[in-house]
Amino acid sequence: MTTSPLFYQAGPEMPEVSHGRGVFLWDTNGKEYLDGCSGAISCNLGHGRQDIRDAMLAQLDRVAFTYRTQFENAPALALARQLVGMTDDALEKVFFVSSGSEAVESALKLARQYFVASGESQRRRFVSLRPSYHGSTLGALGMTGYQPLEAPFSDITMSSLKVSGPDFYRQRDADRETHVRRVLEETRNQIKAVGDETIIAVVLEPVGGASTGARLVDKAYLEGIRRLCDEIGCLLIFDEVLCGVGRTGTWFAYQQWGVTPDLLVTAKGLGAGYYPVGAMLCREEIVEAVMASGGFQHGHTYAGNPLACATGLAAIEAIRDEHLLDNVDARGRQLQRGLETLQCRYPWVGDVRGLGLLWGVELVMDPTEKTPFPAQANLFARVTALAKEEGLLIYPRRPLDGLAGDHFLVTPPFTISESEV
Ligand code: PLP
Repeated sequence: MTTSPLFYQAGPEMPEVSHGRGVFLWDTNGKEYLDGCSGAISCNLGHGRQDIRDAMLAQLDRVAFTYRTQFENAPALALARQLVGMTDDALEKVFFVSSGSEAVESALKLARQYFVASGESQRRRFVSLRPSYHGSTLGALGMTGYQPLEAPFSDITMSSLKVSGPDFYRQRDADRETHVRRVLEETRNQIKAVGDETIIAVVLEPVGGASTGARLVDKAYLEGIRRLCDEIGCLLIFDEVLCGVGRTGTWFAYQQWGVTPDLLVTAKGLGAGYYPVGAMLCREEIVEAVMASGGFQHGHTYAGNPLACATGLAAIEAIRDEHLLDNVDARGRQLQRGLETLQCRYPWVGDVRGLGLLWGVELVMDPTEKTPFPAQANLFARVTALAKEEGLLIYPRRPLDGLAGDHFLVTPPFTISESEV
């Protein structure tokens, strides 16, 4: 066989990785790369950490895997307690999984089961934003508002009611406040049109990731959505798979605005890239109702295994003990200044947006009209390839349904130093 038997998505040939230390990776030809996107916004503590390795080895020496229906395990319990504490006890229950998509699936199914248990089985519809990304399994994909990913499966997936999220860069309203009011009004009308009583939950990313290039919502929008959910009696699910666990400078992104969801999902950085760990957090009342009706009809084999949870625990302890949230904040502001310098210097750097160490840069052909470059220009891929040639890894995305420009994410590990930024 001449070619590799491995396949992923379409893409260019890749160098083979040799090893990583701190914010750097080296390929087998000795070329050095600054990991400016923490892999897939997952290696939040950088590479080659001894403390995480030691915690994993210590757990491996005890036991790697036990099944959740046979044994309780101490690392799972400790990690769950940490996560609840990170929400200031606002979300009291934790369900472990191994990925972001699994976490989203779990939240969707728990929310539906909650209403079935509560005698409201007419609630069978979710609401999510366009654009958005919530994962690649069919349920999570059904929430995802990103046409190229949806297209091949649109006839067979469960699909949410898609509503537009705020877009402060392209908004044409008089000001931000008016924009938020209009977007909320449209959302309310779309929901009314299908019937309030049919809605299970609104699902959204408090800070968009790859789907929007770190597009931010803001406090008034989140408060408006929270009010709307309360008014129509549905749940609010925050997808913090990418923006959670410290990425924005607070443990969870929603804490930046003080608007609390009923369920929250996180993954990616939870295992800091050392092992897959994901979690769904939710209010106790939801779990109690579901348990009283016979239990949650859902689970994944590797969920909450000791090795995964010991890794997640070590990662969270490192963030806390090394005060890395402060570094996220300080280095984030430094990064923002640098990216804004690019924006001043180059007209095609249309927008720079983000929070903490989660920054998105949108490239446009015409900065006044904010016209995207044509999709055929493949700009996102070319910029990423050029950066890689220069030894910098960034996270690219192609234009969204022709509605936005090419963008890339700059999301380095929380451990990055001033000179590395
Ligand atoms: N939700 C968001 C916001 C994401 O960014 C992602 C992954 O990029 C997912 C869900 C899916 O996570 P995973 O790739 O771990 O299944």
